[in-house]
Amino acid sequence: MRVLVVAETNGERVSEKTLPAIAFAQQKAPDNFTILAIGNNLQGVEMLTNYGAQAVLTVNHPALAKPLAERYAPVIAHYAQQLGVDAIVATTSTFSRDVLARAAGLLDAPMLSDIITFESANGKLVAKRPIYSANLIGTFEVEGTPVVMTVRGPAWGKPEPKASQSPVQAVEAPAEVPTRSEWISLQGSSGGRPDLTQARVVVSGGRPLKDPETFEKYIGGLADVLGGAVGATRAAVDAGIAPNELQVGQTGKTVAPELYIAVAVSGSVQHLAGMKDSKVIVAINTDPEAPIFQVADYGLVADLYQVVPELIELLKNDKGA
Ligand SMILES: Cc1cc2nc3c(=O)[nH]c(=O)nc-3n(C[C@H](O)[C@H](O)[C@H](O)COP(=O)(O)OP(=O)(O)OC[C@H]3O[C@@H](n4cnc5c(N)ncnc54)[C@H](O)[C@@H]3O)c2cc1C
Repeated sequence: MRVLVVAETNGERVSEKTLPAIAFAQQKAPDNFTILAIGNNLQGVEMLTNYGAQAVLTVNHPALAKPLAERYAPVIAHYAQQLGVDAIVATTSTFSRDVLARAAGLLDAPMLSDIITFESANGKLVAKRPIYSANLIGTFEVEGTPVVMTVRGPAWGKPEPKASQSPVQAVEAPAEVPTRSEWISLQGSSGGRPDLTQARVVVSGGRPLKDPETFEKYIGGLADVLGGAVGATRAAVDAGIAPNELQVGQTGKTVAPELYIAVAVSGSVQHLAGMKDSKVIVAINTDPEAPIFQVADYGLVADLYQVVPELIELLKNDKGA
């Protein structure tokens, strides 16, 4: 199988979110995959050269300065056809759901999203992916190539570094890049905190955090002493307590940090769908029957307003010691 990995970029910089897609390619097409990175004056391309790709193709063009599906998809389709690949792969994210779906449309190719396994069986390609808030695993068969896929990050992990460096080749954008849609702005900010989907530590808060100031003081405060990212439940987002981009769960982001601290989070199936692959889960909740305790490795039945400030102080002192 020959694979084209589409690197996740914001148009300016390559993101580490690309790594699970490279891990997929290492497993399914060792020695036979190419990485494509699109943007304008792209930084961070060297991050892609350590994993055994035959080549890292970079396309730099002013019209590609922002990741618009309308503009990136024809570039992906062009190089997929030129290389004659069997699969086009990126890590599941807002970027890939948008850009790859359009590339699949242009290529009239089958698309599978968020896959956790991928095998060839009886001449057919068979993939599995979580469905219904990750309560069921669906098995899907596809015919036709190239198959376009987004792969679920936690299922594929990080690629293995290789001794040799992949060559970086600057290539041209196809003759015409459509420009009917324009990038206007991007709202939201992590306030200098790590990216929620990449962070080693995530502290999430639920509806009882009352308002944005309280949420920031307790959840942001705990995240900061741990060098972590902040997450939230949908109930907290819907109540205007936390911004939309912090939502973890079925209709939010999927995270799998080394440590996930759920503060006043009930543990609905929709929330669990976005965080249950976390390595260590700690729950703080006043209700000993809260469903979050069923998935927690460590549970504290306590009032957040009492224990979170104590935790922050202890961690600060621990750091100072
Ligand atoms: C189609 C659909 C999609 C959804 N997608 C998502 C999603 O992506 N993400 C998501 O999170 N939800 C999602 N939801 C909503 C989900 O069903 C729950 O309503 C939501 O997760 C509950 O959020 P919560 O835990 O903050 O609030 P609550 O359910 O109100 O729970 C609050 C918890 O805090 C505890 N508590 C109260 N006071 C304190 C205190 N002082 N100290 C400590 N603990 C305290 C309570 O015991 C309780 O367990 C979705 C729902 C639907 C229908």
